[in-house]
Amino acid sequence: MLEQTFVIIKPDAVAAGNVGAILSRYEEAGLRIHRMDLRVIDGSFADRHYVEHLERDYYPPLREFMTEGPLIALVLTGDGAVARVRALHGATDPSVADHGTIRADFAESTRRNAVHASDSPETAAREIGLWFGEG
Ligand code: ADP
Ligand code: MG
Repeated sequence: MLEQTFVIIKPDAVAAGNVGAILSRYEEAGLRIHRMDLRVIDGSFADRHYVEHLERDYYPPLREFMTEGPLIALVLTGDGAVARVRALHGATDPSVADHGTIRADFAESTRRNAVHASDSPETAAREIGLWFGEG
Protein backbone atom coordinates (compact mmCIF):
# COMPACT_ATOMS: atom_id res chain seq x y z
CA MET A 1 0.00 0.00 0.00
CA LEU A 2 1.40 3.39 -0.97
CA GLU A 3 2.26 5.16 2.24
CA GLN A 4 4.00 8.29 3.47
CA THR A 5 6.48 8.52 6.31
CA PHE A 6 8.30 11.40 7.96
CA VAL A 7 12.09 11.35 8.24
CA ILE A 8 14.74 13.63 9.73
CA ILE A 9 18.39 13.52 8.73
CA LYS A 10 19.60 14.79 12.11
CA PRO A 11 22.16 17.57 12.74
CA ASP A 12 25.07 15.14 13.28
CA ALA A 13 24.63 13.61 9.82
CA VAL A 14 24.15 16.98 8.11
CA ALA A 15 27.30 18.39 9.79
CA ALA A 16 29.29 15.29 8.81
CA GLY A 17 28.33 15.64 5.13
CA ASN A 18 26.32 12.43 5.00
CA VAL A 19 23.08 13.83 3.51
CA GLY A 20 23.70 12.59 -0.03
CA ALA A 21 24.76 9.11 1.08
CA ILE A 22 21.69 8.75 3.31
CA LEU A 23 19.26 10.03 0.64
CA SER A 24 20.74 7.47 -1.76
CA ARG A 25 19.76 4.65 0.62
CA TYR A 26 16.09 5.67 0.38
CA GLU A 27 16.14 6.15 -3.39
CA GLU A 28 17.96 2.86 -3.99
CA ALA A 29 15.24 1.14 -1.91
CA GLY A 30 12.58 2.56 -4.26
CA LEU A 31 11.29 5.21 -1.89
CA ARG A 32 10.62 8.61 -3.39
CA ILE A 33 11.13 12.10 -1.97
CA HIS A 34 7.79 13.92 -1.66
CA ARG A 35 8.90 16.86 0.53
CA MET A 36 12.38 17.96 1.60
CA ASP A 37 13.54 20.98 3.57
CA LEU A 38 16.74 22.00 5.35
CA ARG A 39 15.89 23.91 8.49
CA VAL A 40 17.04 24.79 11.98
CA ILE A 41 14.47 24.20 14.73
CA ASP A 42 14.19 25.80 18.16
CA GLY A 43 13.59 24.06 21.48
CA SER A 44 9.84 24.60 21.54
CA PHE A 45 9.48 23.01 18.12
CA ALA A 46 11.65 20.08 19.24
CA ASP A 47 9.27 19.69 22.21
CA ARG A 48 6.31 19.42 19.82
CA HIS A 49 8.06 16.83 17.66
CA TYR A 50 9.25 14.74 20.62
CA VAL A 51 6.11 15.29 22.73
CA GLU A 52 6.09 11.66 23.93
CA HIS A 53 9.69 11.97 25.22
CA LEU A 54 9.53 15.21 27.19
CA GLU A 55 9.76 13.55 30.61
CA ARG A 56 12.56 11.12 29.72
CA ASP A 57 16.00 11.62 31.27
CA TYR A 58 17.57 11.58 27.80
CA TYR A 59 15.31 14.39 26.53
CA PRO A 60 17.20 17.56 27.63
CA PRO A 61 20.42 16.61 25.79
CA LEU A 62 18.34 15.32 22.85
CA ARG A 63 16.66 18.75 22.67
CA GLU A 64 20.10 20.43 22.63
CA PHE A 65 21.29 18.10 19.89
CA MET A 66 18.26 18.54 17.65
CA THR A 67 18.57 22.35 17.82
CA GLU A 68 22.37 22.62 17.38
CA GLY A 69 22.36 23.07 13.61
CA PRO A 70 20.58 22.38 10.34
CA LEU A 71 18.65 19.17 9.79
CA ILE A 72 16.81 17.80 6.77
CA ALA A 73 13.06 17.17 7.13
CA LEU A 74 11.67 14.72 4.57
CA VAL A 75 8.46 13.06 3.55
CA LEU A 76 9.13 9.77 1.75
CA THR A 77 6.54 7.75 -0.17
CA GLY A 78 6.43 4.12 -1.17
CA ASP A 79 4.80 0.78 -0.50
CA GLY A 80 5.00 0.12 3.23
CA ALA A 81 7.20 3.19 3.65
CA VAL A 82 6.83 3.43 7.45
CA ALA A 83 8.15 -0.06 8.21
CA ARG A 84 10.65 -0.09 5.37
CA VAL A 85 12.32 3.15 6.46
CA ARG A 86 12.51 1.90 10.08
CA ALA A 87 14.25 -1.23 8.76
CA LEU A 88 16.68 0.82 6.65
CA HIS A 89 17.53 2.91 9.73
CA GLY A 90 18.24 0.04 12.14
CA ALA A 91 18.14 0.07 15.94
CA THR A 92 18.20 3.29 17.97
CA ASP A 93 21.57 2.28 19.46
CA PRO A 94 23.98 2.02 16.52
CA SER A 95 26.18 -0.49 18.34
CA VAL A 96 23.40 -3.06 18.00
CA ALA A 97 21.99 -1.88 14.64
CA ASP A 98 22.09 -4.49 11.87
CA HIS A 99 25.06 -4.40 9.50
CA GLY A 100 24.39 -2.17 6.50
CA THR A 101 21.70 -0.05 8.14
CA ILE A 102 21.95 3.73 8.07
CA ARG A 103 22.54 3.95 11.82
CA ALA A 104 25.21 1.23 11.76
CA ASP A 105 27.03 3.15 9.03
CA PHE A 106 26.49 6.81 10.01
CA ALA A 107 25.37 7.20 13.66
CA GLU A 108 27.79 8.53 16.28
CA SER A 109 25.92 7.30 19.39
CA THR A 110 22.45 6.39 20.68
CA ARG A 111 21.64 10.10 20.94
CA ARG A 112 23.48 11.32 17.85
CA ASN A 113 22.06 8.59 15.67
CA ALA A 114 21.82 10.25 12.26
CA VAL A 115 18.12 9.76 11.47
CA HIS A 116 14.55 9.81 12.77
CA ALA A 117 11.56 8.04 11.22
CA SER A 118 7.88 7.80 12.13
CA ASP A 119 7.04 4.62 14.03
CA SER A 120 3.48 4.13 12.66
CA PRO A 121 1.20 5.55 9.94
CA GLU A 122 -0.64 7.50 12.66
CA THR A 123 2.62 9.04 13.90
CA ALA A 124 3.59 9.80 10.30
CA ALA A 125 0.36 11.77 9.78
CA ARG A 126 0.94 13.78 12.96
CA GLU A 127 4.60 14.48 12.16
CA ILE A 128 3.96 15.41 8.51
CA GLY A 129 1.26 17.84 9.68
CA LEU A 130 3.57 19.38 12.28
CA TRP A 131 6.52 19.84 9.92
CA PHE A 132 4.86 20.50 6.57
CA GLY A 133 1.21 21.32 7.28
CA GLU A 134 -1.69 19.78 5.47
CA GLY A 135 -1.38 18.74 1.81
P1 ADP B 1 13.84 5.95 17.60
O1 ADP B 1 14.43 7.25 17.06
O2 ADP B 1 14.65 4.74 17.18
O3 ADP B 1 12.36 5.79 17.32
P2 ADP B 1 13.10 6.56 20.37
O4 ADP B 1 11.79 7.02 19.83
O5 ADP B 1 13.10 5.56 21.46
O6 ADP B 1 14.04 5.99 19.19
O7 ADP B 1 13.94 7.83 20.90
C1 ADP B 1 13.95 9.03 20.17
C2 ADP B 1 15.37 9.54 20.09
O8 ADP B 1 15.83 9.85 21.42
C3 ADP B 1 16.40 8.51 19.58
O9 ADP B 1 16.45 8.45 18.17
C4 ADP B 1 17.68 9.06 20.17
O10 ADP B 1 18.19 10.17 19.44
C5 ADP B 1 17.20 9.55 21.54
N1 ADP B 1 17.34 8.50 22.57
C6 ADP B 1 16.49 7.50 22.85
N2 ADP B 1 16.93 6.73 23.85
C7 ADP B 1 18.10 7.28 24.26
C8 ADP B 1 19.07 6.95 25.27
N3 ADP B 1 18.91 5.89 26.08
N4 ADP B 1 20.16 7.73 25.36
C9 ADP B 1 20.33 8.81 24.57
N5 ADP B 1 19.47 9.17 23.60
C10 ADP B 1 18.37 8.41 23.44
MG1 MG C 1 10.77 6.92 18.08
